[in-house]
Amino acid sequence: MSMLLTRKAEFSASHVCANPALNEAENRRIYGSAANPNGHGHNYVVEVTVEGETDPVTGMVFDLRELKEIMNREVIEPMDHRFLNREVAPFTTVVPTTENLAIEIWRRLKPCIDGANARLRNVRLYETTDLYVDYGGEV
Ligand SMILES: [Zn+2]
Repeated sequence: MSMLLTRKAEFSASHVCANPALNEAENRRIYGSAANPNGHGHNYVVEVTVEGETDPVTGMVFDLRELKEIMNREVIEPMDHRFLNREVAPFTTVVPTTENLAIEIWRRLKPCIDGANARLRNVRLYETTDLYVDYGGEV
């Protein structure tokens, strides 16, 4: 029987929403105050959903401790308390919008989660309590 398993984690990071290929006025027009070059912070909440069959022996879709370790290693430790534009690839060149951040989290987690019995199904990233994106990979 296929089930969905979701684990949530939080991290705090700062960013500037501006495309280096555009000038300051264009970035201001597109991103508003989020383009302020000195940056601003968010308390991000990420929800990682794994789809799989429950193992007949363990009764689990995915080892919960392993999932926590993967999320810590691939996402929380590299991004928590970082200035994304300056410290976290690929955001030195890619605009760290919520959308692009969700794609990057997906890219980092997918090879660590996908296996014989389970696969990464969705990454939900909250930038604020009332704004989130869902990314489920290329369709
Ligand atoms: Zn922001």
